[in-house]
Amino acid sequence: MKNLFLLLSIFVIFSCSKPQEYKIPVYGWMGGPDNLTDQELKNQFDTLKIRGIDGVMYNGGQNPETYHRVGKIAKGAGLEFHTWIPTMVQAKNPKLKPEWYAINGKGESAYDKPAYVDYYKFLCPNREEVYEFLAKMYGAIADVPEVDGIHLDYIRFPDVILGKGLWDKYGLVMDREYPEYDYCYCDKCVSDFKDKTGIDIKSVEDPSQVQEWKQFRYDLITSIVNRLAVLVHDKGKQINAAVFPGPNSVAKRTTRQEWDKWDLDAVFPMNYNDFYLEKPEWVGEVTKEGVTALDGKIPLYSGLFICPNPENKTEENDPENHGLIPEEMEVAIRGSMENGAAGICLFTPGRMTDAHWEVFDKIIRNDYTKK
Ligand SMILES: [Zn+2]
Repeated sequence: MKNLFLLLSIFVIFSCSKPQEYKIPVYGWMGGPDNLTDQELKNQFDTLKIRGIDGVMYNGGQNPETYHRVGKIAKGAGLEFHTWIPTMVQAKNPKLKPEWYAINGKGESAYDKPAYVDYYKFLCPNREEVYEFLAKMYGAIADVPEVDGIHLDYIRFPDVILGKGLWDKYGLVMDREYPEYDYCYCDKCVSDFKDKTGIDIKSVEDPSQVQEWKQFRYDLITSIVNRLAVLVHDKGKQINAAVFPGPNSVAKRTTRQEWDKWDLDAVFPMNYNDFYLEKPEWVGEVTKEGVTALDGKIPLYSGLFICPNPENKTEENDPENHGLIPEEMEVAIRGSMENGAAGICLFTPGRMTDAHWEVFDKIIRNDYTKK
């Protein structure tokens, strides 16, 4: 009996001290709930959990009730639940006045003449009413008990330069900043900048050469992020954001995101190499750039763009259908982890094919941080 007790004790000690199997932390961007029933949502989240996803960035509109319902099911499946809701891009809405939308260098409003695509209706980040709208909307969602975090997206200006991989799609050569894609030249932005620096930006021939004008716009976005961060943190919730790669190589230059200055809990750079006509090795390079800029302040999760039809990638013209094929996954994930990422985020789990999941399952159990 004594021996049995001893054996049991040894067994308990061993099973408790057995190291947990290593797995790379993985998040996934996804949307819903469409018309899915609770049971269907549960099946969806259970499957993601089994496949190695730890948390979802969930896009389900702006109604807190949706996140209450879906969040409960996601949390029940053991997932972290972050709400993925665009910030500066807002569809026409009775709560938003047309004059609060951003104005480009030609004087056109994103409200009725958006750049590139119809949904590019960006608000001006320099309007107090815009901040109040966002604070109210995100605040109500952060109040939902099932919500772990607020995930900001489109927290930026419209792309003044598109990724090279997108030029053909839109029939553009974006060798410099053009006024039709450059924002915001609304009366408030122009006059606030004049008050601050003495420069009348409308009289400058090439505004892209004015460093203060760049900084002024970085600061407008940073200010919105940091004010929202205070609000969300006061509610005991996390706040993080999807950002462009960089910050210096792409994010600041193209969308005015100086994200290394943001008071967030984590950043999720969209390290989508195909959008920049880069190889998967580039994912590691930009991860290193981001981790260096953050200097240990907050974790960085490397966002990976998944190719939904790997067999057609070479014939596919639309870069939105490009992305990592199964054979490229290891280079991108290894590059991210070896260069200091805290984990990865998939765009999207739904685009992953069986072949992707098969290699993914092996890759995420490698600890690339151990040299
Ligand atoms: Zn403005």
